[in-house]
Amino acid sequence: MATSCDRMAKIQGHPCFGGNHHKNGRMHLAVAPKCNIKCGYCSRKHDCANESRPGVTSRVLTPAEAIAKVREVMASELLGPIIKVIGIAGPGDPLANEETFETFRLVGEEFPHLIKCMSTNGLLLPESIDRLHDLDLHSLTVTINALDPAVAARIYGHIFYHGKRYSGSEAAEILIANQLEGVKRAADHGMTVKINTVYIPGINEEQIPLIGRRVKELGAFVMNVMPIIPQAELAHIVPPTPEQLELARAANESVIGQFKHCRQCRADAVGLIGQDVTVGQSACEVPVR
Ligand code: SF4
Ligand code: SF4
Ligand code: SF4
Repeated sequence: MATSCDRMAKIQGHPCFGGNHHKNGRMHLAVAPKCNIKCGYCSRKHDCANESRPGVTSRVLTPAEAIAKVREVMASELLGPIIKVIGIAGPGDPLANEETFETFRLVGEEFPHLIKCMSTNGLLLPESIDRLHDLDLHSLTVTINALDPAVAARIYGHIFYHGKRYSGSEAAEILIANQLEGVKRAADHGMTVKINTVYIPGINEEQIPLIGRRVKELGAFVMNVMPIIPQAELAHIVPPTPEQLELARAANESVIGQFKHCRQCRADAVGLIGQDVTVGQSACEVPVR
């Protein structure tokens, strides 16, 4: 298992955590189509808004197709030397798809030097965290949009949890409790934890500083406040202005490091952030903004 020195070196090689955005790239593998919750800003026709730019659907890969794509990319003269991270971020929730675990296993077997990274809504994190640790997951992003169940109930329509559908505050309470327990246990395992919070004006702005403080206490490393991309039930929301976003991040900066360069990449993005390229059969036709 990795030592703390290995982990620090890996953070520095990770474009999303180590500030090497212009040198190091990541490859997202879209192996996770199913989701177990309903975020009000999510149109399930598109990629997960946890980490992925909604608006263009990924072609879902099987684990065998995913590892073949990794082989192809790592053999490429252009991309092989810059790819440092393999991320699974959708198009649904990685933990709701067994294929996520199988894909990480295959990647670890063949490319043990690549950093494994995953993004989740956190619902299944407590029960999955030991498996992820055994697979040597290095970094984890959890999207947390509220700590108050009454606020969360305005954001999440329902959850499916252990075979049952929950809605309203009941759903929100289960989701929040699991997110927080999952963050703590991931940090205790030595994973580098990023928290994504979707800034939804009129709904959760007051929750943002509370989330920042709480996740810092639990061991999170950095927070990424992202503007809502209005869709689905929350299509009527006016996104925060760049000034509002900047103010929200600045207010949190003394509590937990703020992540400012996020471009909300697609679940199948490959390459340097902001300069994604098409690879093989990937549905990566459009570069990120
Ligand atoms: Fe959509 Fe992702 Fe939310 Fe699931 S977790 S509903 S895929 S945004
Ligand atoms: Fe970056 Fe998230 Fe992808 Fe990891 S899963 S490489 S943190 S965007
Ligand atoms: Fe980095 Fe944001 Fe793109 Fe993830 S979505 S790779 S955090 S810029």
